[in-house]
Amino acid sequence: MIDGSRLFELEDTHGSGAYGKRPTALLRGEGVYVYDEVGTRYLDATSGQGVAALGHSHPAVQAAIAEQAGRLITCHESFYNDRRAEFYDLLSGIMPADLKRFFLCNSGAEAIEGSLKVAKLLTGRDGIVAAKRAFHGRTTGALSMTWTPKYRKPFQAWLPSVTHVPYNDIEAAQGAITEDTAAVVAEAVQGEGGVHPAKDEYLQALRDACDRTGAMLVFDEIQTGLGRTGRWFGFQHADVTPDIVAIAKAIGGGLPMGVVSWRAAHGPIDRATHGSTFGGNPLACAAAIATLTTLRDQGLIEQAAVKGTWLAERLRALELNSVREVRGRGLMLGLELRGRVTPVLKALQEAGVLGLPAGLNTLRLLPPLIITREQLQVIVDAIAEVLD
Ligand SMILES: *Cc1c(COP(=O)(O)O)cnc(C)c1O
Repeated sequence: MIDGSRLFELEDTHGSGAYGKRPTALLRGEGVYVYDEVGTRYLDATSGQGVAALGHSHPAVQAAIAEQAGRLITCHESFYNDRRAEFYDLLSGIMPADLKRFFLCNSGAEAIEGSLKVAKLLTGRDGIVAAKRAFHGRTTGALSMTWTPKYRKPFQAWLPSVTHVPYNDIEAAQGAITEDTAAVVAEAVQGEGGVHPAKDEYLQALRDACDRTGAMLVFDEIQTGLGRTGRWFGFQHADVTPDIVAIAKAIGGGLPMGVVSWRAAHGPIDRATHGSTFGGNPLACAAAIATLTTLRDQGLIEQAAVKGTWLAERLRALELNSVREVRGRGLMLGLELRGRVTPVLKALQEAGVLGLPAGLNTLRLLPPLIITREQLQVIVDAIAEVLD
């Protein structure tokens, strides 16, 4: 076992350098809590970056992984598998409308890459319209659609066919979406970009523009999906059906998994146009089955709406001078601060609560959907203690 300062030294020596790291090692998790190298407990209001919707090491997910690990861990999609079939069946019961074709992969960026390829295959076009402040991942295609210059600048112009339009600006989107557009890509609530919810009319206008031009409407539900906003998917608040949906983060219960979902009416894609060695492996499928079943059977989606409204109201009621606005949907909340978020994150951690940034000035809260009222109150109390 590695202990103490050696752990930090080894990671600093051999890690890529790509991450700004907090000087804390997380060694154990249980429910909404994680524990560091000296046993200090934190309430994880990040859900491990939006992944642990059921909290950490949920018993149902643990049991599913252990059982499947003893039977079959890997099975390429060139063979059929019972767990994968069961997962398709379950997910197709959850997806709205006829979003019932799936390509399985292993991460969010991969789900975005897959979504673009499906859109290009279905339309035979290559134009992409994305939004300013968008975050879609860090592989070269996904990065081309991500807005933040800090992430994109060293690489420049990988996909030349991307147009960025201001988010929530209907006219700008209408102007940019043409008969050369393959995909219009949007988040129902921009996460990294500062926790900005889409206006219902905006998402409806994107749908109309796609219908008019034959472009595919792609929603990136990687962060907003699977109950986070109080519906299974963020776009359901606007009563709009996309052509393609990218899903990842929470779906595997902590195991890596991504899904591209598209409308059955568009049919399957041609053989050999896409693929993934690990995609659809039985271990991730078993964990995802346990995750989706638990979310559904415990009513956690509906509860996320109620809990989120309660949390937002309590935070607003604090009337903090340093908070410009509390916004978001369900258990995806942003507190836009008058100052920088970094020192606030540090102080919050000292008060026992882990939060996330969203841009330079916004504190983002993505607590596990299993969180209780009392635990939400702990977050409110910590914020009241840290901010004035
Ligand atoms: C996290 C995230 C991604 C990228 O997912 P990775 O698994 O890190 O590749 C893409 N889009 C959104 C909205 C995300 O929140």
